[in-house]
Amino acid sequence: MATISRAEEKERPRVRGSLQIKFGLSYILLIAAVLVLLNTYPLIVSEDLAFRSKATAMENSVSVMVSALANLESLTEENVSAAMTLVAATDMSRILVTDAAGKVLYDTRESDGAVGDYALYTEVVQALLGNDAFTASYRSGAFRSRAAAPVLYQNRIIGAVYAYEYDMGQAALLRGFQSNIRNLSIIVTAMVLVVSFIMSRALTGKISELLSAIRQVRAGAYSHRAAVRGHDEIAQIGDEFNRLTDRLQTTEDVRRRFVSDASHELKTPLAAIRLLTDSILQTENIDPDTTREFVADIGREADRLSRISEDLLRLTRLDGGAVPMPSEVDVAPVLEQVLRMMELVAEERRITLYCDAAEHCRVLATKDELHQVLYNLVDNAVKYSHDGGQVRVSLRREGGQAVLTVADDGVGIPEEDLPRIFQRFYRVDKARSRAAGGTGLGLSIVQDTVKNRGGSVEAANRPQGGAVFTVHWPRVEEGGGEE
Ligand code: ADP
Repeated sequence: MATISRAEEKERPRVRGSLQIKFGLSYILLIAAVLVLLNTYPLIVSEDLAFRSKATAMENSVSVMVSALANLESLTEENVSAAMTLVAATDMSRILVTDAAGKVLYDTRESDGAVGDYALYTEVVQALLGNDAFTASYRSGAFRSRAAAPVLYQNRIIGAVYAYEYDMGQAALLRGFQSNIRNLSIIVTAMVLVVSFIMSRALTGKISELLSAIRQVRAGAYSHRAAVRGHDEIAQIGDEFNRLTDRLQTTEDVRRRFVSDASHELKTPLAAIRLLTDSILQTENIDPDTTREFVADIGREADRLSRISEDLLRLTRLDGGAVPMPSEVDVAPVLEQVLRMMELVAEERRITLYCDAAEHCRVLATKDELHQVLYNLVDNAVKYSHDGGQVRVSLRREGGQAVLTVADDGVGIPEEDLPRIFQRFYRVDKARSRAAGGTGLGLSIVQDTVKNRGGSVEAANRPQGGAVFTVHWPRVEEGGGEE
């Protein structure tokens, strides 16, 4: 098995690392965005809600106090104190009542009550100008709210009520909420980080496994396969890669077999030539007839060599995919030409050739390749026929197809060999094929040529003995496209 070089080994963590970093960074960015949102928006909203409820509560309290003072013609320390005692105890930290000039008439702050002084708080000034006022702030864990409203008598401002509240209870609630969200954020962050780390590791782990399989195959270990787990896209890529490698392995096996078969085929005639020349050179006083016989044998072996190399060249061209431009070719005239060529050989062995060819059977191909296909099939039929046998060739139209059959009553093909006779250099009877001048490449050439034009070829045995080859080509109408 091939090993991976050190340089390739080094590539792995880089690719894996970069993917993992990309995943990790995108997760972290996402979490950061979510956390920023989670830690700001609800807090802003709840703070705002608290301010609003404070404003309503304070305004209500102040208006209760204002209505308690509303019936007084003018405000004095005494009548204000009397009126204020009637107002239900509120939870305000401080309540101030001033006259129209801002002089304090009533103050609930016991320690440094400011009765007699002027209370010129912004809210009081606002109230003395006839407006209701409210301000609130949230600082150092406490809500500080201030509200003031004017006291009117017959539409005349006779004073102002000011209330101040220092609330730690609601602030503590808000702080609790804040810390809950923070704790939740920390837990969510930890969970997301752990899950994303596990997921990205699993993902990059799969990718690096696949990558290592690709590298092994690239290095020549065609039998290596990627381990496929699950059904996700990466598993599908792994599956496709394994199929690709299967094909690669098959192609590689075929190529190796082809090269070894080809060299073996070339070696045999070369060895014969070498033997014959050695015999001529080393035999003293060799008579001219024997020499002529040996030279004739050398000529035959040379012919064989050139036939093999021609067939190999043809196959290489077919493999290369450089298919020549086809034209519409009528099959019948080409078939007639081939049969005329074969007549002499057939006659020598008293084989009768019968032909039944439909006219205007046109296919997209080149004349040369069509000639090659027909020649190989008819040549085989004659070659593997018994002396005095019959070879029947028929060409007919079947729907959109041109169908050619070449049938003989010869030796036939053993059933177990039928699937393999189209393989390169495959011969059922090597000696017979060689003796008849076969290269073992004829049927491979037929199959590759026909396939290149979208057709197919099959072989079968006839019940009455002998073999039959059937070729299907897509047919074209005269002057038109494919059927
Ligand atoms: P070859 O040059 O040996 O004829 P082919 O590729 O043309 O090579 O054929 C492959 C093998 O298929 C032959 O060796 C022969 O064994 C068998 N074969 C082909 N055609 C026939 C036939 N008509 N009858 C019997 N066997 C055949």
